[in-house]
Amino acid sequence: MTTVVRSITDLRAALSAERRDGRQIGCVPTMGFLHDGHRSLMRLSVAGNDTTVVSVFVNPLQFAPTEDLDRYPRNLERDVEMAYDEGVRYVFAPALEEMYPEPMVTGVHVSGVSEPLEGAARPSHFAGVATVVTKLFAIVGACRAYFGEKDFQQLAVIRRMVFDLSLPIEIVGCPIIREPDGLAMSSRNVNLTPDARRAAPVLLRALHAGRDAIEAGERDAAVVRRKMHDVVDREPLVELDYAEVVDASVFVIPTPLEGSLRLLIAARLPHARLIDNIGVQV
Ligand code: AMP
Repeated sequence: MTTVVRSITDLRAALSAERRDGRQIGCVPTMGFLHDGHRSLMRLSVAGNDTTVVSVFVNPLQFAPTEDLDRYPRNLERDVEMAYDEGVRYVFAPALEEMYPEPMVTGVHVSGVSEPLEGAARPSHFAGVATVVTKLFAIVGACRAYFGEKDFQQLAVIRRMVFDLSLPIEIVGCPIIREPDGLAMSSRNVNLTPDARRAAPVLLRALHAGRDAIEAGERDAAVVRRKMHDVVDREPLVELDYAEVVDASVFVIPTPLEGSLRLLIAARLPHARLIDNIGVQV
């Protein structure tokens, strides 16, 4: 059985009862319009915990006024069906007024790891994410929480936030699930025009070109960056925001490139902004 919970009070009561019965809770925070990437997180949570709660909430705090909040796709009925298929016990789908009955004057800001790349391209984004995730953790309480490597920098920001604030949460990072042509699954992919959808796998091809260069011995980040830019430049529909290689834990560019590295890319297409990343070890 999957129960849809709309209120914070009701979710707290339900999860308190679960804990009294000795159950370990798994939590999968999402913005809904669930796909197989979310499904993989739900599956890991259901397998690794006694009770799973999936949250579905499109959080306005993490969208800038110019971004796609109004166009963000939604389908709660289908989300609940997928959650049910995966054995999820609760879908927490609060209304906007339930999460933010008053304008927020309190926020969580993580410096350092949240500043480059996505943080530079979307200056208020990670504070919005950190704030809503902290609020969700305060509602759900001690749990294991599952996040995708699809949003690799977000995962690093949340890990650091949980560490700094001693939150009673164990963060589990989960691998990226892709379409057969390599495009990372994303709720936003439905907003791509047919031409943009065909062009979109160029993101992964660019990441591969960067990784191939490193694996062939390249140790200069500028050269790796150029290789990725060259691949994207051949796709006229795709406008690059950034393509970069950084240290996978601290998000700075090592000179020379060494250790555990992450190549990350973001680009704008008609009509969605997409991100992707892959790892490489030197
Ligand atoms: P979202 O609903 O896009 O905010 O994503 C909710 C969670 O699902 C985040 O932790 C994402 O990183 C994760 N996620 C989204 N897409 C994928 C994917 N293609 N593979 C793995 N995890 C994903």
